Amino acid sequence: MDYKSIIINSGLEIIKRGLTVETWGNISVRDSESGLVYLTPSAMKYDEITEDDVVVMDIDGNIVEGKRKPTIETGMHLAIYKSRPEINAVIHTHPIYSMVYAVQGRSISQFTDETAQALGGEVLCTKYALPGTDEMAKEVAKALPETHRACLIHSHGAVCLGRSMSEAFKTATVLEATARVLQLVEATGAKPAGISQENIDYMWDFAQNKYGR
Ligand SMILES: [Zn+2]
Repeated sequence: MDYKSIIINSGLEIIKRGLTVETWGNISVRDSESGLVYLTPSAMKYDEITEDDVVVMDIDGNIVEGKRKPTIETGMHLAIYKSRPEINAVIHTHPIYSMVYAVQGRSISQFTDETAQALGGEVLCTKYALPGTDEMAKEVAKALPETHRACLIHSHGAVCLGRSMSEAFKTATVLEATARVLQLVEATGAKPAGISQENIDYMWDFAQNKYGR
């Protein structure tokens, strides 16, 4: 598979879907066979990234290929891959509605069928940590335990995971739509009625193991 084009196309997709602002955010994909991680370079506009700009690293952060400086959040991406062997794609963005909750340091519960099928657990929010630090990398990995596919970074943004890049995009789209619905519900002074944990577990199992064409 051509992982460098996956990074380039995903960057364009992030702009198209309105998932971030300016150059903020970063993307990575792991080749599950070689274990190598492909990352977006630091401070480049998504629509200017070419194959030569993609940085290839091993899981310990040694650069294997590429001349650019990797994203400032490299440590966060690698920490996630280390703790989640089934995950092969990570998207970090600053989407508006998710930010509404990230700036409050609030988690988002699974109150729709979509969240139960795509997010793999409550969307936890980290404690505050400075961007690009080991502390932030650790906090993010901690907010993504077990099957969780998305978390919020306090006062900063969102991190969405997938076994593949298309699944990570699904996670990102569902998270942002969910945050938007929650904001609209709360704007009326109400709260979501909620779904039982039993039903959430059933839907997750179905979506992961039984759903398909
Ligand atoms: Zn960020």
